[in-house]
Amino acid sequence: MTLIGKMQEWPLTVNKVIEHAKLNYPRQRVITRTVEGPIVETNYAEIHDRAKQVSNALKADGIQMTDRVATLAWNTSRHMETWFGAMGIGSVLHTINPRLHPEQIAWIANDAEDKILFVDTTFLPLVEAVKDHLKTIEKFVIYCDADGMPETSLANAVSYEAYINGQSQDCVWGDFDENTPCGLCYTSGTTGNPKGVLYSHRSNVLHTLMTGMTDALGISIHDRVLPVVPMFHANAWGLTFTCPAVGAEMVMPGAQMDGASIYEMLTKYKVTTSAAVPTVWMMLLQHMEANNLELPDLTRVVIGGSAVPERILRTFQEKYGVEVGHAWGMTETSPLGTVGSLTPEQKKLSEEAQIACKLKQGRAPFGVEMKIVDDNGKELPRDGETSGHLLVRGMAIVDTYYKGAGADGGSILDKDGFFDTGDVANIDENGFMQITDRSKDVIKSGGEWISSIDLENIAVGHPKVANAAAIGIYHPKWDERPLLIIQMNEGETATKEEILKQLEGKIAKWWTPDDVAFVDSIPLGATGKINKLALREQFKDYKLPTA
Ligand code: AMP
Repeated sequence: MTLIGKMQEWPLTVNKVIEHAKLNYPRQRVITRTVEGPIVETNYAEIHDRAKQVSNALKADGIQMTDRVATLAWNTSRHMETWFGAMGIGSVLHTINPRLHPEQIAWIANDAEDKILFVDTTFLPLVEAVKDHLKTIEKFVIYCDADGMPETSLANAVSYEAYINGQSQDCVWGDFDENTPCGLCYTSGTTGNPKGVLYSHRSNVLHTLMTGMTDALGISIHDRVLPVVPMFHANAWGLTFTCPAVGAEMVMPGAQMDGASIYEMLTKYKVTTSAAVPTVWMMLLQHMEANNLELPDLTRVVIGGSAVPERILRTFQEKYGVEVGHAWGMTETSPLGTVGSLTPEQKKLSEEAQIACKLKQGRAPFGVEMKIVDDNGKELPRDGETSGHLLVRGMAIVDTYYKGAGADGGSILDKDGFFDTGDVANIDENGFMQITDRSKDVIKSGGEWISSIDLENIAVGHPKVANAAAIGIYHPKWDERPLLIIQMNEGETATKEEILKQLEGKIAKWWTPDDVAFVDSIPLGATGKINKLALREQFKDYKLPTA
């Protein structure tokens, strides 16, 4: 006789998150700096109710289960309403990254077969420019009031408020299988075409529970959270789900992401926790240092997307008393993979040793399994030194890309179901992981690997340096040698020797870059990371003085 568990079937669908928030924290606020300018306040009850209006408007337009509904939008409460409104009826919310090249945006919308596009007025010119290439979008909903509708050359365009106005706040949500797709996000795609990651309701709910754990994002009902990380970058690292799930208030930055605007939102609304990539924090810290400002309420920042430079970590912790949670993840991992919350043993270490631990990407929360392997797929030791390809599997990690992309007819997983992240890392005996490079960015000198990330992070520690990138340049003897590319702070200059001095004693001697090149600006990709592909193109004919 087969015996099965006698517990309730309660499909893990994301509508339950906002339903829970409406019931239990109806008046917890979501504050938004609107794209039009004024700051507006709403709450979880209103977001829930208006999301139902979105659902009904979508249904009236014939949107069905698994149809793709796209957004090209900033973090705002309207975006959040669309998010839950589309997901609640089983359609797929596809967040498009507006920082991609317009041609790529059109390609992605066609590949996803988006039916409706919700768009912020900021991005209207972008959409108008590619409208003739959009093959599947039948309607454009512009995020604005009915009387604020801008002139547009888009056919079949309507204001958001007119679109949902008069729709009922009654709608059945979530009456479907928990494996129904729920969100679609394309990876920034440094090679080839972007690939879609199709999240399921189940994976997003499990990811929400995971991020809600104290040692993960550590957010509670007592927090006010400012997600600087956009909803189009891997679901704002899950915060659009985690905050309503735990009842934390949200402060949405809208279109203004500069240091002064973020600072204003952080202080005016007494934000306790925020999350962003290092480049954003760099802008905020520069603004604060230039104007002698304080951060009285902020207790924690989550930093990920790229490695946290030591200067940012130290400034937050030592100058402003803000704890840094260094996180690693990717679009394919929903995105949380690891967080650098210290263990009891690590907390007993000296302050300096704790900083060293925090510069690592951290440990896997329950639900993520990691291993490192060599070029032949053989597992490598967890000794904190040996580096290898970082592989992951777990409850919210990609199995197959949308439409099978990237698999060449096979699987993107190894025989044990692990996904190759494309990152190179070491893991220590306590499970603390440290990314040493992207597989394709690692500089291969005489068969040994030089970490471009290490060189960059030490170089940005120089007070005059705004940003740094290290790439491998062809060398007849060593195959590749490092070139360090430097963007100075506005109005500053330095010599090659001065920059190299910054690295002295902090790296193995043979890691020292063979040359330093100064540029006006280091190109950033669509998610705020250094665009190494563009740099490699720019420096493809570069001759090293040592060659
Ligand atoms: P994306 O899918 O655009 O979020 O990019 C994921 C990639 O960003 C990862 O595979 C890493 O290469 C990089 N990344 C994310 N977080 C970190 C981090 N904390 N340190 C170093 N690299 C990171």
